[in-house]
Amino acid sequence: MSKARKKLPLHIQIIIGMIIGIIYAFISSYFGWNSFTRNWIDPFGTIFLRLLKFMALPLVLFSIISGVSSLSDVSKLGRMGAKTIGFYLVTTIFAISLGLFLVNVIKPGSFMDDEQRAKNRMQYELWVEATPGVELKDNLNFLEDPKYDYLKADLKDDFEFKDDSIKDKIMSANQKKEESPLVFLVNMIPDNIGAAISSNQNMLQVIFFAIFFGITLLFIPEDKAKPIKAFFDGMNEIFLKMVDILMRYAPYFVFALLAGVISKMADTPAEVFQIFKSLGTYTIVVTIGLLLMIFVVYPTLVSSIVRKVKYRTFLRNISPAQLMAFSTSSSAATLPVTIDCLEENMKVSKNVAGFVLPIGATVNMDGTSMYQAIAVIFLAQLHMVDLSFTQQLIIVLTATLASIGSAAVPSAGLIMLIIVLQSVGLNPAWIAIIFPVDRILDMIRTTVNVTGDASVTTIIAYSENEIDLDSINDPNTNE
Ligand code: ASP
Repeated sequence: MSKARKKLPLHIQIIIGMIIGIIYAFISSYFGWNSFTRNWIDPFGTIFLRLLKFMALPLVLFSIISGVSSLSDVSKLGRMGAKTIGFYLVTTIFAISLGLFLVNVIKPGSFMDDEQRAKNRMQYELWVEATPGVELKDNLNFLEDPKYDYLKADLKDDFEFKDDSIKDKIMSANQKKEESPLVFLVNMIPDNIGAAISSNQNMLQVIFFAIFFGITLLFIPEDKAKPIKAFFDGMNEIFLKMVDILMRYAPYFVFALLAGVISKMADTPAEVFQIFKSLGTYTIVVTIGLLLMIFVVYPTLVSSIVRKVKYRTFLRNISPAQLMAFSTSSSAATLPVTIDCLEENMKVSKNVAGFVLPIGATVNMDGTSMYQAIAVIFLAQLHMVDLSFTQQLIIVLTATLASIGSAAVPSAGLIMLIIVLQSVGLNPAWIAIIFPVDRILDMIRTTVNVTGDASVTTIIAYSENEIDLDSINDPNTNE
């Protein structure tokens, strides 16, 4: 028995943990054990998240310093930086375009009955009238059309959502919008490196410091640089090992994490089904788009550019990171595992993995941007608002920026969706409509975000000759 268990590869063990967690959550809500689950099981999920999070920052710091200081040619860094940003942008724009294509073809918003949609439309028109600076985006006017007079009695003229959490989200998104466009550049530079490291929130500041430190290390005399470099190499090894040790217990932690998340979603299984029924088509369209990215776009892209890496090899080698992303809904918390998978399984050099992945975790969110594009059009369809081609182009632009600006934590994409809605003159409070299914979609889009980072990293490593193609873990030989 124990032998058989040992033989199960880690990702299968994690999947089993996930499935048991989900099944348990349903049983627990059926028998009314939810408060037991929240008090006694959920905390272990939180412990797991904390462990992952505390490893992320030191790992980024040490892996960048140790990677950059082992570069033989500093100009390589500039080239790699340009490639990283270029590739990340291309994959994001592709993801948004695929999302727009799917939502325009399947039209999930038109599945609701027409009377309800007409009411939504009139509600939207009332909101436009009441909101300064917003205009109707098309030439329709349902409020003035006698055909819809009979619906007027049901219209409410309050547009504020009662839910405080939604109001707070809108306020914090508006604050972001008012900032200068260069604020991201300013924010990248730490004014106090101790504070940047200890706050655990300023990944880009830590990346900036680590690159600067690593480069400077190359310019000081060899005898002084050597012990410092050895120190950072050693620290990097220690943190990678910590991730390895933690991952051995991941299946148990993932069980606790999922049991907690699902039991918090709703109190009874019937409620869960109800939520998914009303937003079913939308959920399906987002899921199709995201799965296409995970199982078709990325592996095909990687295996067609890096011929020696087969479809299955790639997916299998990064699967622990994908499963972590799914369970934690946070690319930042997953980062230690992503770095470990790329270095240990894909044999990408630590220069590249340590540099490209942390930047990706912060700025490259293909899943988030695709989800935002689909959500905006779905909400417009639900309110019978037809967005023109130009408006859809604006969505490409704002969703790209919004995904770059989204923090790599759960639900960040939903908050930034507010900005995308406002950019095309739609009501930001509509996020409340899709809020109930956000957590599950967050899990899948985070998996896409992490897979995107891993794909771009593999391709850049290949183009820079920084991947050891002959020793990549091969699932066919390492069963
Ligand atoms: N949870 C996502 C991530 O960490 C961001 C989002 O789309 O909410 O990658």
